Amino acid sequence: MTSHRDMTPDEFRTHGYAMIDWLANYMERVGDLPVQSEVEPGWIRQMLPGQAPEEPEPFDAIAADLDRIVVPGLTNWMSPGWFAYFPCTTSGPGTLGELVAAGLDQQGMLWATSPVCTELETVVVDWMVDLLGLPAGWKTTDRGGGVMQQTASDAAHVALVVARDQSQRRGARIDQCVAYTSTQAHSSIEKGARVAGYGHVKLVEVDDSYAMRADALGEAVSDDLASGLVPTFVCSTVGTTATTAVDPIRNVGELARQHGMWHHVDAAFAGNAMLCEEFRHHQDGLELADSYTVNPYKWTPMTFDGSLFFVADRAPLIQALSILPEYLRNQASESGQVIDYRDWHVALGRRFRSLKLWFVLRYYGASGIRARLRANVGWAQDLAARVEEDERLELVAPVPFSLVCFRHRSGNDATESLATEVNRSGHSYLTASRIGGMSFLRVSIGQVNTREEHVERLWRCIDEEALRVA
Ligand code: PLP
Repeated sequence: MTSHRDMTPDEFRTHGYAMIDWLANYMERVGDLPVQSEVEPGWIRQMLPGQAPEEPEPFDAIAADLDRIVVPGLTNWMSPGWFAYFPCTTSGPGTLGELVAAGLDQQGMLWATSPVCTELETVVVDWMVDLLGLPAGWKTTDRGGGVMQQTASDAAHVALVVARDQSQRRGARIDQCVAYTSTQAHSSIEKGARVAGYGHVKLVEVDDSYAMRADALGEAVSDDLASGLVPTFVCSTVGTTATTAVDPIRNVGELARQHGMWHHVDAAFAGNAMLCEEFRHHQDGLELADSYTVNPYKWTPMTFDGSLFFVADRAPLIQALSILPEYLRNQASESGQVIDYRDWHVALGRRFRSLKLWFVLRYYGASGIRARLRANVGWAQDLAARVEEDERLELVAPVPFSLVCFRHRSGNDATESLATEVNRSGHSYLTASRIGGMSFLRVSIGQVNTREEHVERLWRCIDEEALRVA
């Protein structure tokens, strides 16, 4: 019979060093691996036994399967040739922060269950208010506050719940509540509204630059009021997923104030650019917003997960989400002197996410992160200029940040073939998308490992393939 065994600290040291070596090797070779996994569906399942192991295995045997089973099935988001979706970025300090957080295994649901998980998060998230140029009142030292949610989808879901709660407290029925966002908003807004039980979700028309039309929002709100519905929530986006379009934050904010709607601003990707002052004009009018989200893991060197969610006033958030069962009562909470983050999101248990953000901010300094962001935007501008000069290609949207959207002038088939050919190269990976029947390519620059030479290699590939597919 096998006896129960634990990994001793000494064994952990040995295997831990080996895992760090393995990860460092992965970092060194990720640029040589194909960006997309080349396995067929089901390959990984077929490599694994049908049953869980009954007997313990040596750690070395487990580690050996990383190269045998895991690496072939990886989509290499860390590749310098990553130009798809938006990036998901990590780094040495980000990964080490995540490792330490895992080893410390904190449960930060209450201040009392981990004072450092709570207070470090509060401080680091308050730092971000200044770094991103957000309204000073959004700090926990004022009426507002920030918290690290898992993802931007979770942040939007919470904002939708708080808005609905406010509306219901004012007498609205849930089936009367309406959530508005643009046709170009991320699908998480519509999904969050469904989960939060909204009676109606309205997708507002956009203009030629794919930004929400404030006049169309105003009309939709008036029509709904006339039909007895209750405008409850509106989400505007700074940097839409398809093209990084920027909604008119101030105009939407004014309409929201006029009609008592909660105004959530989704800046999941482009919000990171606000570390640099020159981009902040894109979110003029934030002082009229009720909540805001930005994902550091989409463009700064912080490891997934952790979406920053800020509210201008934390009282309605806590009012909507606070439930106090007997077993969570404690002196610190009752003193009113501490934050209990369980009241700031849906989950009870919470990870020590701020540790990796703290590591990253200290290791790179804000100046180091800004330098990378600016370099990425510069390379995107250069790529956009090349597209504009090329008579076979055309830009389909402005390039306010580091996403370049363009198409082949010969039409959808040529555009889609161009994407297929570039992705077949193995060294670079981009995504094709569609708006209103028009196919286009998205080149999203922001992977931490990407350098100018990788954008150059991508351009050479586009240039050669564009000639072939026309
Ligand atoms: N909002 C925008 C503008 C996005 O681009 C995305 C994802 O790309 C999301 C929200 C959803 O992000 P998450 O995966 O953090 O939920």
